[in-house]
Amino acid sequence: MNPLLDFAGLPRFADIMPEHVAPAIRQLLDENRALLGQLERAETPATWLDFVQPMTDAGERLGRAWGIVGHMHGVNDVPEWREAYNAMLPEVTRFFAELGQNLALYEKFKALAASPEYASLNPVRRRIIDHEIRDFRLAGAELPEDRKPRFQEIQEELSALAAKFSENLLDATNAHAEWVTDEKGVAGLPEDVKASARAAAEKDNKAGWKFSLHAPSYLPVMQYAEDRDLRARMYRAYATRAAEFGKSEWNNGPLIERILELRAEEAEMLGFANYAELSLTPKMADSPVQVAAFLRDMAAKARPFAERDLAELREFAAKELGLEKLESWDMSWASEKLKLARYAFSDDEVKQYFPEHKVLAGLFRCVETLFDVQIMPDTATTWHPAVCFFRIERNGKLVGQFYLDLYARETKRGGAWMADARSRRWQDGTLQTPVAYLCCNFPAPVGNKPATFTHDDVLTLFHETGHGLHHLLTEVDELAVSGIDGVEWDAVELPSQFMENFCWEWDVLRDMTAHVDTGETLPRALYDKMIAAKNFQSGLFTLRQLEFALFDLRLHSEGRKDFLALLDEVRREVAVIVPPEWNRFPQSFSHIFGGGYAAGYYSYKWAEVLSADAYSAFEEVVPDVGTVLDAATGERFWREILSVGGSRPAIESFKAFRGREPSPEALLRHNGMVATA
Ligand SMILES: [Zn+2]
Repeated sequence: MNPLLDFAGLPRFADIMPEHVAPAIRQLLDENRALLGQLERAETPATWLDFVQPMTDAGERLGRAWGIVGHMHGVNDVPEWREAYNAMLPEVTRFFAELGQNLALYEKFKALAASPEYASLNPVRRRIIDHEIRDFRLAGAELPEDRKPRFQEIQEELSALAAKFSENLLDATNAHAEWVTDEKGVAGLPEDVKASARAAAEKDNKAGWKFSLHAPSYLPVMQYAEDRDLRARMYRAYATRAAEFGKSEWNNGPLIERILELRAEEAEMLGFANYAELSLTPKMADSPVQVAAFLRDMAAKARPFAERDLAELREFAAKELGLEKLESWDMSWASEKLKLARYAFSDDEVKQYFPEHKVLAGLFRCVETLFDVQIMPDTATTWHPAVCFFRIERNGKLVGQFYLDLYARETKRGGAWMADARSRRWQDGTLQTPVAYLCCNFPAPVGNKPATFTHDDVLTLFHETGHGLHHLLTEVDELAVSGIDGVEWDAVELPSQFMENFCWEWDVLRDMTAHVDTGETLPRALYDKMIAAKNFQSGLFTLRQLEFALFDLRLHSEGRKDFLALLDEVRREVAVIVPPEWNRFPQSFSHIFGGGYAAGYYSYKWAEVLSADAYSAFEEVVPDVGTVLDAATGERFWREILSVGGSRPAIESFKAFRGREPSPEALLRHNGMVATA
């Protein structure tokens, strides 16, 4: 039997081989297509049991098997697995695209929603049906027949434009190189950056150093290079990429206008006043007006702090660096100097205090105390000897399990992520418990010393664990909305960012440290420096995010195509730093023109407000219980937010936990932006 088709227990990683992929996935696609064919027929009653249930079951088998393949592609990207994944990707993508446009299924869901059965279903099942109908509607299923081809055309042109936008940006980025020939020109740069630049020059058979506009080369130059002229040249090249100054075929300006035009047309066809309304429909935020008010309110509150940050930087630059006028290409360099002058400590110094075993023990203790669970080692076959497996129990009963794959490997995708291997559901009288993958890219141990993590690594681990808890501690019985499934896009980061807060608490942090050589816990003085540096220039940083978010939102809700003029208006309203007039930031704003963030860039701040405000409930009990690790508040957070997952609107969950609407006060306070009288 093909082990990818064995759904009885955990994935059989010891047995699953790349050659199993094509036959298993094809069989599951065939099974799903055959079933959908039956479900579409008039004879199939539009009921939960005859229609939704079988569709969910078959979809889950395909999702689980394909999830394992995607996971292997991410954690063991050897040629055989890459090939197996890529070979089936088009077929799987096509299947889901067809499913989204299947009118007969849409009609069945509508019939079910209109039937007497609907009223008798529990709210969770009604919510699942409502979501299905909404998604079909947003995919154009309700349009009159004669307008559907145009809708399809728009979709296709938009995806081609998004791809072209990214390609232009990449080509324009690749086209520029900056050469330095004498040692003086690379003064200030870290050794590893110089070595890479040297290697890049050697590859071209040239002497000296070669710098590019890619982040690992560009950012350190802006931050460390003493040569002001080099910074100025690099900045100009970077800020004018894919614009009218370069090759005309790489100019993203006309593409932006076309994308905006098509998005407006798509929204209009679906009956929305503008694209932002369409984008917000499946999200937590109610309307463009609400989001704009949110962003403007945050901007007004952050502005005095950004002005202070800028004034301090200008003063430091004038006094200590001899720079009378701070140019855009001086900002990052001068900021680095100021940061060093103020908080002399290095990330590496902090790292010595965070060995892996202490960090994991501290993380688990934090989770166990807050959510009344026990985490213990468990056994399972895995994809690599370094992967660990754990189970979570409550009162001796299994709640969920997770794989922990901490170390970077050559064959592993970069970054950190949580993914679901299995979701919780009740099926035929048995409970299926959830299973998750937590993957990071931390340095592996060297020699006989344990692995040590930077404070950033620790934050990442807590962040991904937050996503994991959202998925694993769910109590929802219906697959489509259990755990992270069905959670609104702008609320997904609530539990993850929430967990990060604990990494800044002295109580929590102290207990998870032991110097790798001396065993000494983190000194309070070093902790104080970390806290002081945490909010360095947070006003400037916040205002910049808000500027991008407001630009994105207004661009998609005001029906304007003069995007440069609009960006100017937004900057006059919220920014304190105004870049040179020739800066062409929109032409490289990939999030909204090449990715999925259109009228959604605000989500970063939105979810941060929710997570900070939720966390402040734990801070509020400190005077009474003496610690943020309060089990009673933890129990409420679990019951109202983690356990309900996507089964009810995120705003309802938030209000049930906090007893009121979200407030930005906690986030501003955490970022050091509190007005003093
Ligand atoms: Zn996240």
